[in-house]
Amino acid sequence: MSRVVIVGDGPGGLSAALLLAKNGVEVSVVGQDTTPMHHAHLYNYLGAPDIDGSAFQRLAREQVAGQGARLVDGEVTALEVSHDTVAVTSSAGSFDADYVVLAGGKAAQALATQLGVTDGDRVPVDQEMRTSLERVYAIGRLVRPERSQAIISAGAGATVALDILSREAGKDVHDWDTPPEG
Ligand SMILES: Cc1cc2nc3c(=O)[nH]c(=O)nc-3n(C[C@H](O)[C@H](O)[C@H](O)COP(=O)(O)OP(=O)(O)OC[C@H]3O[C@@H](n4cnc5c(N)ncnc54)[C@H](O)[C@@H]3O)c2cc1C
Repeated sequence: MSRVVIVGDGPGGLSAALLLAKNGVEVSVVGQDTTPMHHAHLYNYLGAPDIDGSAFQRLAREQVAGQGARLVDGEVTALEVSHDTVAVTSSAGSFDADYVVLAGGKAAQALATQLGVTDGDRVPVDQEMRTSLERVYAIGRLVRPERSQAIISAGAGATVALDILSREAGKDVHDWDTPPEG
């Protein structure tokens, strides 16, 4: 089973975690629930016409934990990428991962700089949100510093999840469900 560490617990990181955990991947989301969502009230998130940002986060965290992802209360302080693993150091302990997702917003800029994946003010990524490092993805404000919306981060997180699932399966993967019988 592959292991994924997600740096950041806003809508982007949680969305990636949801699809990965639902499909049996061992996922840890590291963060301290300090997302700017706690200052937001959403009227522009499709399917949720009027919801307080903190309520959104609470629901999202419950949904993700319910699928088996581990929510780790901590701050990632260092990442070291080798050819087949990423060593993650955090205030809550150290982890080895097969993939890392940088979803920490502007606050994670130092980590991106440390890894050498930035291009000035942003982290360049391809359409699957892959950075220049094989096992490292980036989403959210690291990638789009001036154009941030919760639904864009959530979509980018889902994109990462499908890419990791597809890489591991060796073929393109969707996460599609149908209504329950009866
Ligand atoms: C006042 C205000 C109102 C807003 N209103 C809206 C709105 O109406 N609609 C809308 O769509 N968007 C709104 N937004 C923007 C919305 O909050 C962002 O688009 C969204 O939070 C981005 O999600 P994200 O997952 O990319 O990153 P974030 O939500 O920024 O989450 C990143 C998380 O990672 C954590 N983190 C950072 N570094 C590390 C590290 N090293 N280790 C561990 N964790 C780390 C951060 O503390 C944070 O909790 C608003 C923002 C503000 C400030």
